[in-house]
Amino acid sequence: MHRFFVAPEAIANGTAVIEGEDVQHMKKVLRLSRGDEVTLCDGRKTEYTARIERMEKECITLQILASASSKTEPRCSVTLYQGLPKAGKLETIVQKCVELGVSRIIPFQAARSVVQLSARDFEKKRPRYARVAYEAAKQSRRGIIPEIGGLADLSTENFSEYDLVMLAYEEEHGMTLKQALRCAENISRLALIIGPEGGFACDEVASLAERGAVPVSLGPRILRTETAGMAALAMALYELEG
Ligand code: SAM
Repeated sequence: MHRFFVAPEAIANGTAVIEGEDVQHMKKVLRLSRGDEVTLCDGRKTEYTARIERMEKECITLQILASASSKTEPRCSVTLYQGLPKAGKLETIVQKCVELGVSRIIPFQAARSVVQLSARDFEKKRPRYARVAYEAAKQSRRGIIPEIGGLADLSTENFSEYDLVMLAYEEEHGMTLKQALRCAENISRLALIIGPEGGFACDEVASLAERGAVPVSLGPRILRTETAGMAALAMALYELEG
């Protein structure tokens, strides 16, 4: 059954209204018509089975038949802090991590990032990454559209909202990701910090550790930055949701 994200306010009193680009897609590409049923997601982990009642030029009206909580959302909300990687990699990271269950991706300017971007310059690229997240969320049947944050400065980032902050550090040989997860209890909000191609500067690791980030190893092999986030996310959710 085809799935569409709609704003929560588009669903009221047992009906839903779809407007914008999905209207043409439903009509011209999917050739949907009156009486067809689709799944609507409100982006807040609720899904609706809805039947097309009226198709007009600019909008489609549907009747809500049933609703249920999304079954595809992890219990634990994971935010991936991604050291700004070389051009072209962030789209792949966004796409794969959305498929794997990330809730939010926040890129940050790391000392050793090859690419040095201002927050303002990143804002010009952000809609593109948000689009990649939207498409990946539709394809993987997510109950939310993971957020792509603005370019962060970790030295001023507030980590107090998280139950655990793990810093994937390739020079860490004691604590593993699994051990760090098992030491913590009732993790419902997790942060994973991944360095750029050049890795972390020592003072970055020290500063983050001082503020509660736990350096963890992802194993004996050195992963590319575009692999590390996906791997850490998959390992963490496997451990937490298994
Ligand atoms: N300094 C690394 C080296 O020696 O080649 C390069 C950094 S690595 C390409 C990019 C990032 O992936 C690291 O900063 C770290 O966050 C993560 N990473 C890669 N392999 C890892 C491992 N085995 N354990 C923990 N983190 C790892």
